Amino acid sequence: MSETFKGAFTQQEPIPEDAIEAALRVLRSGRLHRYNVVEGETAEVSLLEQEFAAAMDVPFALATSSGGSAIATALRAVGVGPGDPVLTNAFTLAPVPGAIASLGAVPVYVGVTEDLVIDLDHLAELAGQGNASVLLLSHMRGHICDMDRLMEICDAAGIRVIEDCAHTMGGAWNGINSGNHGIAACYSTQTYKHMNSGEGGFLTTRDPDLMARAVILSGSYMLYGRHLAAPGPEVFEKVKYGTPNVSGRMDNLRAAILRPQLRRLKDQCARWNDRYRVVEAGLRGTPGLTVIERPEQEHYVGSSIQVLLLDWSDRAVNEVLRRCAARGVELKWFGGAEPTGFTSRYDSWRYAPSDRLPKSDRILKAIVDMRLPLTFSLDDCAMLARIIRAEVGAVWQAGGAGA
Ligand SMILES: *Cc1c(COP(=O)(O)O)cnc(C)c1O
Repeated sequence: MSETFKGAFTQQEPIPEDAIEAALRVLRSGRLHRYNVVEGETAEVSLLEQEFAAAMDVPFALATSSGGSAIATALRAVGVGPGDPVLTNAFTLAPVPGAIASLGAVPVYVGVTEDLVIDLDHLAELAGQGNASVLLLSHMRGHICDMDRLMEICDAAGIRVIEDCAHTMGGAWNGINSGNHGIAACYSTQTYKHMNSGEGGFLTTRDPDLMARAVILSGSYMLYGRHLAAPGPEVFEKVKYGTPNVSGRMDNLRAAILRPQLRRLKDQCARWNDRYRVVEAGLRGTPGLTVIERPEQEHYVGSSIQVLLLDWSDRAVNEVLRRCAARGVELKWFGGAEPTGFTSRYDSWRYAPSDRLPKSDRILKAIVDMRLPLTFSLDDCAMLARIIRAEVGAVWQAGGAGA
């Protein structure tokens, strides 16, 4: 009898009880707006920012209404404007080029390698052309490139790096937290990321001027004095009249839910990696399927797993997806020509057209992705690997990847 998986790929864990208690306290107070405090009170959002900055090992953090809003804020805060080219990943999720487009700026795509990281040779080539002065680097699906080489390339070309850490919150490269290499980093606390407030995000930086602009951009109504992870008033004095309010704040309810989750982040990341390693081990050696080897310097958070079906025909990939789905295993084909429920391929963002990237197209077409919510047990993960292995094997044997 072939086994069928019963778990739900979109089901995250419940919000912890202490977070629910904290949320109820905020609701009972009625003071949900981050700047609505009584004498002597410090808002949940300000406390969260202080704790998040400490956790990420940076002086400054701003909580935002979403990850996308954090990215757009960071781009604005470094001075990106209409018509400016911004380098970014050809393999990422739609809010990344979307944030660039929201400013009237122009995404310029950098290719992806078989390790699912940004193609540093392509980056060096584009950087050498001297057009772009900002790289919005997306650590897509938690894959961290050689950050030392990336920073060398960007520093040499005078390119400032904004990191999209939506999938690397809790990750690191060579002992340095993901998000601490570039000039600013953006995180998401949307339900499917590493902490869950429904919607939400963070922007972090070590640059006081950048943070002052970001706070004003986020809609601080000149109440920046209430922030605990922002620079002093003298820095705001320099920027406060010249920076618009673009409104993208977090509220106290979300912050209350996130503070207890932040305290558990490390443990949760370890639990994700336990699951990731079980699936990875179960898939290793499957004919026709390429497991992504993770470099030793990369401390990743395995909240999802990707494999490659390199040079398989569309029909064969679809057959694998169909057979897995019939056994309860939800795989996403990031390489599918038509975006369905997600979009992760540069050629689906037609508002920001690009020349073809043939080397990347081959990789993109091959990427199959699976979420690993913490509601799955290690036994569940072993079963997921068995099912995928069996179904990839069945299609491979029946006619091969070209069928
Ligand atoms: C989710 C996500 C974002 C944006 O986060 P939102 O909070 O949904 O706006 C940005 N980049 C990547 C890679 C993401 O997965």
